[in-house]
Amino acid sequence: MRIDIEDLAKTYDNGQPALHPLRLSLPSGALVALLGPSGSGKTTLLRLLGGLETPSAGQVRFDGVAATGLSVQERRAGFVFQHYALFRHMTVFENIAYGLRARPRRTRPARAEIDRRVHRLLALIRLPEIGPRYPAQLSGGQRQRVALARALAIEPRMLLLDEPFGALDAQVRKELRRSLRQIHEATGLTTLFVTHDQDEAMELADLVVVMSMGRIEQIGPPAEIRARP
Ligand code: ADP
Ligand code: ADP
Repeated sequence: MRIDIEDLAKTYDNGQPALHPLRLSLPSGALVALLGPSGSGKTTLLRLLGGLETPSAGQVRFDGVAATGLSVQERRAGFVFQHYALFRHMTVFENIAYGLRARPRRTRPARAEIDRRVHRLLALIRLPEIGPRYPAQLSGGQRQRVALARALAIEPRMLLLDEPFGALDAQVRKELRRSLRQIHEATGLTTLFVTHDQDEAMELADLVVVMSMGRIEQIGPPAEIRARP
């Protein structure tokens, strides 16, 4: 899905602009890093796209259609957060199936179809055996891979990942980068991920958006960003 961000701005109740009017077009299937220090507006931009916040000005278009007024569900974003609490009392299988089982009957897939989808997603994250396990029995990296699978279960139109690897050590981050790359290749979803790790942005993204104080400071493919002083 193509995303056009048109003069999108956000000021929270405290009156300080978190995001100054911002224009940005993301082609369908882009893998985009939002890179920048803490407080630069990365999360705000992600939340505006997903419909978790309302813009103070401007709008977003999804495949040309204005998203204004669309609910979180209607936007069909797959979210992963840094500390994505998987439901602790549910198995991995139940966690991934949750978004589908919670749908109204009219749009809920049949049980066998939900089963098939969950197994396909477990294969995609290369953890085919862990359906019956509980989150407490998984490593941090495995939990984030399950969180990715859960985000994909609803067949999202885009993936919005907020520091998805932030809390993990270097080796596990590497493994997760590979998972994300594989998922992106397999699904072709327009994907935005927030990071403050420059290497991660450079290695993974095909477009890097460098943010600072609520504005875009630089934008381009990793090679161009790297070339700057
Ligand atoms: P980043 O993700 O780059 O760390 P954020 O989007 O979280 O940046 O924050 C941008 C600015 O908006 C910061 O100054 C932050 O303090 C402020 N901010 C974020 N969320 C809220 C909120 N819910 N209420 C008030 N201010 C907020
Ligand atoms: P590459 O390292 O070039 O990506 P492969 O994808 O074939 O090559 O992976 C090499 C090894 O790493 C294999 O044993 C494979 O099962 C394992 N592997 C690949 N992707 C992942 C992943 N996302 N998570 C964990 N292990 C993986």
